[in-house]
Amino acid sequence: MDLFAKIIIDQDAKALDRVFEYKIPDDMQVEVGERVMVPFGARNLQGFIVEICDECSYDESKVKPIASKIENFPVIKKEMLQLMFHMADKLHLKLASVLRLFLPSEMRTDKVKELVVRQVRLADEFEMPSSRAVKQIEIVEHLQANGQQKFTDVSNQFGHAALSALVKKGTVIVEEVQEFRSPEFDIIQNSKRELTPLQQRAVDSICENKTYLLHGVTGSGKTEVYMNLIEKQLACQKTAVMLVPEISLTPQVLANFKARFGDNVALIHSGLSAGERFDEWKRIFFGQAKVVVGARSAIFCPLENLGIIIIDEEHEQSYVSESNPRYDTHMVAEFRKNYNNCALVLGSATPSIESYAKAIDGESQLVEMPVRVNGMEMPKIVVIDMLMEMRQGNNQIFSIPLIYELKSIVEQKKQAMIFINRRGFSSFQRCRQCGYVAKCTDCDVSLVYHRFEDRLKCHYCGKRYKALDICPSCGSRDIKQGAIGTERVVEELQKLVPGVRVLRMDNDTTSKKNGHRQILNEFKNTKPAILVGTQMIAKGHDFEDVLLVGIVDADQSLYQSDFRSIERTFQLITQVAGRAGRSAKQGRVILQTYSPRHYVYRFATNYDYKGFFKKEVNLRKVTNFPPYARIVRILFTHENETTVAQECKVCYNQIQQIKEKYPQDFVYLDVMKAPLNKIKNKFRYQIMMRFKLDKADEIEKEVYESVNPNTKSSVFFEINPNNLS
Ligand code: ADP
Ligand code: ZN
Ligand code: ZN
Repeated sequence: MDLFAKIIIDQDAKALDRVFEYKIPDDMQVEVGERVMVPFGARNLQGFIVEICDECSYDESKVKPIASKIENFPVIKKEMLQLMFHMADKLHLKLASVLRLFLPSEMRTDKVKELVVRQVRLADEFEMPSSRAVKQIEIVEHLQANGQQKFTDVSNQFGHAALSALVKKGTVIVEEVQEFRSPEFDIIQNSKRELTPLQQRAVDSICENKTYLLHGVTGSGKTEVYMNLIEKQLACQKTAVMLVPEISLTPQVLANFKARFGDNVALIHSGLSAGERFDEWKRIFFGQAKVVVGARSAIFCPLENLGIIIIDEEHEQSYVSESNPRYDTHMVAEFRKNYNNCALVLGSATPSIESYAKAIDGESQLVEMPVRVNGMEMPKIVVIDMLMEMRQGNNQIFSIPLIYELKSIVEQKKQAMIFINRRGFSSFQRCRQCGYVAKCTDCDVSLVYHRFEDRLKCHYCGKRYKALDICPSCGSRDIKQGAIGTERVVEELQKLVPGVRVLRMDNDTTSKKNGHRQILNEFKNTKPAILVGTQMIAKGHDFEDVLLVGIVDADQSLYQSDFRSIERTFQLITQVAGRAGRSAKQGRVILQTYSPRHYVYRFATNYDYKGFFKKEVNLRKVTNFPPYARIVRILFTHENETTVAQECKVCYNQIQQIKEKYPQDFVYLDVMKAPLNKIKNKFRYQIMMRFKLDKADEIEKEVYESVNPNTKSSVFFEINPNNLS
């Protein structure tokens, strides 16, 4: 009887986004999930088998056979195949592009080879070398005593000639053995601690196959709770995934997990080399690693028998992928939780409004840890009105109280962190005479001045430009620096408190391998010291001598144009403030703002998450924003502005007709240039929509199906996007 395979072609093309049928040759054994080569037109292409059946849906004589196998085992497990269909359906993604998320890219491109090491061992039966061959006898004795050894080690120790002679005689056998590259990590002591009663209560209450929201203040010891939950699963032969935002995967965090779980843990983060990533994936795939700790993409790891999924800092935006294929980690986690019938734990000091609303509505279970482990009080947050400072004649970056506190930290030989969410020296250079601002020629954004390199840089495409000293538009030399960045803050600090070590941590200083670790290690070992940084310093770090945190420009995230900007400001303040006073002494936070009376600061300074939530969620309800509505954006991009504008307009007209069918539930529709009109020489136009939740699925489906699949522009479909630029 003939067998047929349904196959997805590994090509990112809309026309190939379906299941194709091939015949399985009689002498070929294949399973669902395997990768194979199949003839397609004149070429052979890679494909994935998603189903095997004994009949095919059209003329059997026209069905081509599979050409060959790629591996001899299924690389995609059953759960992941189901997940693929689920994601493709819910997020309107191409099947092949979803599958690509599940495999290390190295595997598809064949760029990384397995690391093979030559090993030598004694044959099962052999004759002892003659007594004159001293070196040969030494080798035999060495192998008898120590078993299998590396070829190069033995040959270096006893000489190549002797070893070769033994190999030739068949006394010694050479074998190629695969070795897994393992990522570097700091070795530290396993610091397992007795749980506090509050931690114990949290661990005990997370015991069913449900979704839990663990709301614990900064320093409440959530990590220790996670580790205990993972241990409980390991003890009953289950596996665990823990996700942490990429910027929080600090060497300290990785080392802690390695110390606790040893070889049982696989670490997946952006610092790995291609080979290391491939080998970690294999250790997971073949069941050698039972705990996976990693950034967003680790949710796709091929662990079987999951007992728990943990998403730390669940409110983080980075859990929503903004490059294609766009997906939301929470949704994938929810799927895997249901498939494996396991627990899902979302942890945060500042849960997202959406997650907290679910807990309030009983869709998930709320577990609270409202105090710090050591009973320390939360740091005191002092709000400084920068307009008032200006009126009193202070035009500097730092307010008088912040300068005072910094000097006091230096005298006490303690440490401070200064948070400013912009890297570089200043956000732009502007001519004071004619208002000219330097912009990227490929993107619709102003350039950022980097003092250290004396260059202007585009933060969207990376292109560099000569810094301005003369205005190209009017010839004036009166050039002003715009809003400040990390470099500028460092420079000012060095003037203000001379002789104190000031370190900077941002994308520019951590791009080299281990850059992160070097800066943190130096900070740890220097007192007094000040660490200046972007979001990177906001999370996870636990330095006991940090007694002061300065937030230079708290309003920065407040006046962005999307509906989450206030929520995000609350989260950032709470997280950054959480770095201070984590050990014996209460910390202090100086928060500088031009809008000191904004309600977000009142709630944040009181650590009143619940009050903030109530205010914010009511606002969302009356204005029809998530979680009470769904926002959908369709983004069109193309090199030619006329093309993209026109195609976007055509699509908009189609959608207008759908809107008329839902006068109650389709609450908003508009078409416009995207706020960033051009990125990397591609023009961007968008359609924005909002639907009430009840009918959202239905309307979204109709909208999606109305989009013409054959536009010249690239079209991106985004659901509740974080970034509306
Ligand atoms: P969170 O993630 O909730 O902000 P952490 O997990 O970073 O808090 O823990 C804060 C600090 O408390 C860390 O230094 C951690 O080692 C320590 N810690 C956690 N649990 C305990 C415990 N049971 N006993 C003593 N110290 C603990
Ligand atoms: Zn650019
Ligand atoms: Zn000018």
